[in-house]
Amino acid sequence: MADYLISGGTGYVPEDGLTAQQLFSIGDGLTYNDFLILPGFIDFTSDEVDLTSALTRKITLKTPLISSPMDTVTESSMAIAMALMGGIGIIHHNCTAEFQANEVRKVKKFEQGFITDPVVMSPRHTVGDVFEAKIRHGFSGIPVTETGKMGSKLVGIVTSRDIDFLSEKDHDRPLEEAMTKREDLVVAPAGVTLKEANDILQRSKKGKLPIVNDSDELVAIIARTDLKKNRDYPLASKDSRKQLLCGAAIGTREDDKYRLDLLMQAGVDVVVLDSSQGNSVYQINMINYIKQKYPELQVVGGNVVTAAQAKNLIDAGVDALRVGMGCGSICITQEGMKKKKHEQAILCIFYPCSSVMACGRPQGTSVYKVAEYARRFGVPVIADGGIQTVGHVVKALALGASTVMMGSLLAATTEAPGEYFFSDGVRLKKYRGMGSLDAMEKNNSQKRYFSEGDKVKVAQGVSGSVQDKGSIHKFVPYLIAGIQHGCQDIGAKSLSILRSMMYSGELKFEKRTMSAQMEGGVHGLHSYEKRLY
Ligand code: IMP
Repeated sequence: MADYLISGGTGYVPEDGLTAQQLFSIGDGLTYNDFLILPGFIDFTSDEVDLTSALTRKITLKTPLISSPMDTVTESSMAIAMALMGGIGIIHHNCTAEFQANEVRKVKKFEQGFITDPVVMSPRHTVGDVFEAKIRHGFSGIPVTETGKMGSKLVGIVTSRDIDFLSEKDHDRPLEEAMTKREDLVVAPAGVTLKEANDILQRSKKGKLPIVNDSDELVAIIARTDLKKNRDYPLASKDSRKQLLCGAAIGTREDDKYRLDLLMQAGVDVVVLDSSQGNSVYQINMINYIKQKYPELQVVGGNVVTAAQAKNLIDAGVDALRVGMGCGSICITQEGMKKKKHEQAILCIFYPCSSVMACGRPQGTSVYKVAEYARRFGVPVIADGGIQTVGHVVKALALGASTVMMGSLLAATTEAPGEYFFSDGVRLKKYRGMGSLDAMEKNNSQKRYFSEGDKVKVAQGVSGSVQDKGSIHKFVPYLIAGIQHGCQDIGAKSLSILRSMMYSGELKFEKRTMSAQMEGGVHGLHSYEKRLY
């Protein structure tokens, strides 16, 4: 190998490591764990690293992170949190078109401080129900409406003060006997600004402020505790009208056209054509249809893992490609399950999805190969699945991905759908593959796997659980700081510099043997605690 001279330095430094092109020309498919990136030169602090990156041809994000369209990962709460942190959430479609469009609407209508889908009860609910909600959600200021739903007449509110002195024997009492009644409540009219609402809360000294419309129907609620922790979100992903960005997944069938119309009415910014193998005539027809009917809408095609697959979708006009097949965590091998006891599958089908269909590719190779091809056409690549650590995010970006999509890493956060439960004293939330029998039986997700007409369903994923990770508002800043540190070690002050270092050959990689991987993990300790942030 050629030596080169560091100008003005002490002499020759032998060339070291492999370029990405060399690394991936060997022929073996590589996963993120199979290689490392060699460190570079640091002349900036990690918080100076700019993570701005393209989601699609027309949408740019300040944080290159996307939550996956899975029914245990992304509904409106997750999408709102991801967009506030500078990323984006893609609402899943394992539900009716109306439900999905409404989730998108909640994101687009989100105004900081206003809670538009709080827990609501009816006067027929009981004191016991409130105690139960308190255990589950950790609060007790619950508005009471005639029907127990938002959009219905406000009749009262139950706060800690109403129930604190009640005992077990009161648990069956209806709320109409225990709640603070409507006539004693301070409310604010719909359309009130956050500042005005804040002033009203200050004056009334109450913990919750219900917002009602002209017919006295509950439309939102404001919590004093939320106002106190109201923060600025300088990275937030917003459209030209200052509304948060939101994505949604759809399939490629006739009825998905109706779904698409509802999503458009709700203000969706980007749709993801959700298929495990995107190189199909169905997807190409759908892309053509969308591009004709809604030319401004950004369309993500996929999933693909080869340049040949990517070519067809790029020719059809996609605005980004989703890359990954068979690398998702819900394709669990037995060995993986033994290692991660806290991520035990509770309903297991022992088929890694790529083995069921004999198709797929290790994710490092997929990302490099597709990104290297797609960049010639200005089409950004989303590295989807297989992200287990922040280091994997850095590797995906260093291989040419513009953004990274995650399922398991974001599952079991406060904002993920579903409720926490305990197993062996560990607080967990459910996380399941959209190709698991569990998810396919529900509704729509079989379409992702082309199996809705099949007599025998072939599971391509499993259903399991993941340990509580706390809020996205703490977890994503940890991921952002981790990516910035990774880029700093590499010597890349921005993601675009990182990519150009990779394509110019300046960025160097090295393959990792099994023993190198073991050396890279914690070893030689009797016991240790792994706290990441
Ligand atoms: P994770 O981040 O490794 O958990 O992977 C999430 C990704 O796995 C999703 O974004 C999907 O692309 C993919 N996926 C979702 N459900 C299934 C499934 O049932 N089988 C295989 N892959 C799936």
